Amino acid sequence: MESGAAFADPGGREGAGPVRVLLVEDNPGDARLTQEYLDESGAHFETRVAMARTLEEALLRVNAEEFDIVLLDLSLPDSRGLETFTSFYEKARRIPILVLSGQEDEELAREIVKRGGQDCLPKDILSAPLLRRSIRHGIERKHTYEALRSMQRQLIQAEKMESVGRLAAGVAHEVKNPLARILMGIEYLSEGIEPEDPNIPLILKRMEEAVHRADAIIRGLLDFAADRTLSLEDTDLNRVVEQSLFLMDYEIRSKGVELEWEPEAELPKVRADAGKLEQVLINLLLNAVQAMEGREGVRRLTIRTGLSRVSNLLHDEGVRRGMRLREGDAVAKIEIDDTGPGIPSDQLGVIFDPFFTTKPSGMGTGLGLSIVKKIVDLHRGRVTMTNRPGGGARATVQLPCGPAAAGLLGAM
Ligand code: ADP
Repeated sequence: MESGAAFADPGGREGAGPVRVLLVEDNPGDARLTQEYLDESGAHFETRVAMARTLEEALLRVNAEEFDIVLLDLSLPDSRGLETFTSFYEKARRIPILVLSGQEDEELAREIVKRGGQDCLPKDILSAPLLRRSIRHGIERKHTYEALRSMQRQLIQAEKMESVGRLAAGVAHEVKNPLARILMGIEYLSEGIEPEDPNIPLILKRMEEAVHRADAIIRGLLDFAADRTLSLEDTDLNRVVEQSLFLMDYEIRSKGVELEWEPEAELPKVRADAGKLEQVLINLLLNAVQAMEGREGVRRLTIRTGLSRVSNLLHDEGVRRGMRLREGDAVAKIEIDDTGPGIPSDQLGVIFDPFFTTKPSGMGTGLGLSIVKKIVDLHRGRVTMTNRPGGGARATVQLPCGPAAAGLLGAM
């Protein structure tokens, strides 16, 4: 089989390998014919075909291997008719399914497409060109559908974040004043009474701590909900990092953390609000230090600046906020590496959500990263948290920088 280039790879799949087809067919004659049609398509795109003869076997295979498309016969030894399609679809929604049916049945074909199948082709009219076209369109349609779904999910998430912001502002205003009054009362009582009950000072202390904690959460909420305006200036990121490290100095040293600071000497200035960026860095540094607290072995914080180009941008990332970073754009970046435990993969998608925290009560509010994201978004930048291959987490802040940077990047 040749891997031809008569038209683009179906569905814009990544990498140009063969189209991985699972052919679910129990009739050897039909299977051979379909295989022949697929072989004939080799001049257009190469296929790699795996076979399954029963529904059970097909489900086992899709769970164990990656496929680009499934060609599904509905009459199998362990399942028949529409039931075959629905059972398969339930377990393998992510793969496009092309049904090959024994007879022409308009009603059945409509039902299959309505339920999420890509197409239903009667075997007696099947030909190599028809099969080829259906495979291409099936993969492409599924790809577009998944991209739209992902964009929709991101939009819903962005809507949710906005409502949380509005809600936060409302709640904060309602609660801040009563808290301040309670605190004043506690302070007054602490000074003014001669308690006979030895527990009273302790109770007052606890109440005071509780008020301070609630107050910290509310300040965080207000910070998150604040309609920020940036005061942008040409900013030296190395200086912002140094100022943040200066503020964090005690925290870093008292936790026995080694610090490595690797500034990029040729870093061009970026348009940024230095004060807000300090807030970003302090939040990220605090998280890194806290992640390493009490851990055995080396506790090392590495912070570096550099120039790079945007890559691996989710295609719909930041669209709603009008973020202008595009794949390949020149950016100034700040990386913060720690040697903590890293972030469990199932939490990577939620750590920027307001109130998500894994820290014990009293330690974290879960607002730090959501504030970080909000500030970086306002700079039309990008912030990511990833796990480093050698262990530990990496926070990366990328900020757009002008054409001078593109020139420097070329020279690097
Ligand atoms: P908080 O620090 O109050 O919990 P954040 O929004 O700053 O709130 O962080 C949310 C969560 O993200 C943390 O509770 C922690 O589980 C995770 N996290 C953030 N940074 C790191 C890191 N450097 N290493 C491991 N986990 C982290």
